[in-house]
Amino acid sequence: MSTEPTTASTTERSLVLVKPDGVRRGLTGAVLARIEAKGYRIVALQQREATQTELSAHYAEHEGKPFYAPLLEFMASGPLVAVVVEGERCIEGFRSLAGTTDPTTAAPGTIRGDLGRDWGLKVQQNLVHGSDSPESAAREIGIWFPSL
Ligand code: UDP
Repeated sequence: MSTEPTTASTTERSLVLVKPDGVRRGLTGAVLARIEAKGYRIVALQQREATQTELSAHYAEHEGKPFYAPLLEFMASGPLVAVVVEGERCIEGFRSLAGTTDPTTAAPGTIRGDLGRDWGLKVQQNLVHGSDSPESAAREIGIWFPSL
């Protein structure tokens, strides 16, 4: 009898946004390439301008914080790309690919660490968003892709 531990499949879906700075700078392809190179699958993808309803639902947890209004303004400043990503533990995995929130200190090798440029912009312009838990992913996928 095998003594190998059996690991349950943990295929997940995550909601990723390429924020308006990423789209403006032509980095959508670079972000998607890293997602695919990691072995994740792109299930749905849409480039468009976000509505205030989508943005206030998406960032509801940050309402009332000093950076909330500037963040929503920035997120509405141009088209963004919303993506549903699927893969083994891809929620945590994409957060790891993205790097920490502040691009200045995000580790080299990460999307934010390699490509992010938040020169005094209050950590808004950090290229990407990725869901932080299965509950957030389900909620966020429902906001951006209600038909999924
Ligand atoms: N943000 C900001 N100022 C802050 C903290 C966050 O503008 O002091 C923005 C930034 O774009 C960040 C987003 O708000 O990505 C959501 O913040 P969170 O703490 O959830 O960071 P994330 O999960 O995106 O790393």
